[in-house]
Amino acid sequence: MTSPLTTDTATTTATTAATTGGPALRQQRDLVTELPGPRSRALHARKLAAVPDGVGVMLPIYVEAAGGGVLRDIDGNTLIDFGSGIAVTGVGNSAPAVVEAVTRQVNAFTHTCFTITGYEGYIEVAEALNNLTPGDFDKRTALFNSGAEAVENAIKIARHFTGKQAVVAFDHAYHGRTNLTMALTAKSMPYKSGFGPFAPEVYRAPMSYPFRDGGVSGADAAARAIDQIDKQIGAANLAALIIEPIQGEGGFIVPAAGFLPALQAWARANDVVFIADEVQTGFARTGAMFASEHEGIEPDLIVTAKGIAGGLPLSAVTGRADIMNSAHGGGLGGTYTGNPIACAAALATIRSYLDDDLLGRAREIEALFRARLEELRSTDPRIGDVRGRGAMLAIELVDPATKAPDAALAARVAAAAHAQGLVLLTCGTYGNVIRFLPPLTIGDALIADGLDVLRDALAAA
Ligand SMILES: *Cc1c(COP(=O)(O)O)cnc(C)c1O
Repeated sequence: MTSPLTTDTATTTATTAATTGGPALRQQRDLVTELPGPRSRALHARKLAAVPDGVGVMLPIYVEAAGGGVLRDIDGNTLIDFGSGIAVTGVGNSAPAVVEAVTRQVNAFTHTCFTITGYEGYIEVAEALNNLTPGDFDKRTALFNSGAEAVENAIKIARHFTGKQAVVAFDHAYHGRTNLTMALTAKSMPYKSGFGPFAPEVYRAPMSYPFRDGGVSGADAAARAIDQIDKQIGAANLAALIIEPIQGEGGFIVPAAGFLPALQAWARANDVVFIADEVQTGFARTGAMFASEHEGIEPDLIVTAKGIAGGLPLSAVTGRADIMNSAHGGGLGGTYTGNPIACAAALATIRSYLDDDLLGRAREIEALFRARLEELRSTDPRIGDVRGRGAMLAIELVDPATKAPDAALAARVAAAAHAQGLVLLTCGTYGNVIRFLPPLTIGDALIADGLDVLRDALAAA
């Protein structure tokens, strides 16, 4: 295929190094103190005195370097990274091509505000996303800072375009922590509790959750959702449906095949904007550039962030030109939106996904994880489900007799893994899902060692 990136030849030479990722860190788990070590404990005491408790820290080790598939902390411990800072550092931490692009941009200029005086990087990122996102139609892209901010703008745009107000999100959804995105997010604790009132005209519809809904087909689950939307809201009032193609914080829930296409077909037939929140699933993570591709859907708007720029804050709304262009001049933007340093990082990052075949690597990572996770499940009935796509996989932990969610077990397994130097994240409405989101630059040996740590943590828990 032709590159979606038309210029900036200087970054091309550096991308071959990106697969190694980061500073020259030994790609091996290595613990020289207990975790957290004394320096991290001292820094954590300062954190508690300086930063509010609401900004929680899952694993209070403090990092001084990271790359490839490891993090090194300030006590000299090297940990395996199965989290990528929540699916952000897909190209690896401090990927050399990203470092080079960012350094060059910092030396040129750091900020103008794109809506005051522009620069090419913003336009190049927009062109790349217009080319790479599903759908052959004419598109436009607007850039923002965070996933939540981009979600808010997608809703703004959909409301302006349709002249309608209601928005539907789904059970188990996660769309962010700002006021409108808290309303869209399903789970109360810790995301919403006590932080209301929430934005109005947000409604919730039932999700397809094959492990917990008795295997209802995608078509039937969509019909159930559409019936509820029809009766409780009405398409005449509905501006947009927003959905994660694979739910992230909600538990890596992969809807049954056919669910997403049926929702999209209904949305199109009823002048409802179909928005895919690909903030977590986007950019090679699932073995495709975007998870929508697995279901053959072409969303009207796609929201991206996390994996977009190798760790620099950037997000985007990409979609149909007629929808994107409906908002008046000055209606979209922000001081820092599409910051030139973040755009330079995004161009190097996107180039690395393509040139270093990180989509193929995500599929290889899936094969390595799946084989071991299925092997563990075959002998451990507490693993109720193994699911996900590419390098976005999870196990759901349950009471073997009742299938009741076992959040305490997930917490014990994560704690045991952390103590052995494996960064492991949990998620899920019921807190009982362990998710795997390694950088796509992680090596096979680290994956194998990390999964040995997981096996031992499950055995001990
Ligand atoms: C993380 C996430 C968001 C919010 O992104 P922020 O950058 O944290 O604001 C929105 N949607 C999904 C699916 C996410 O995973």
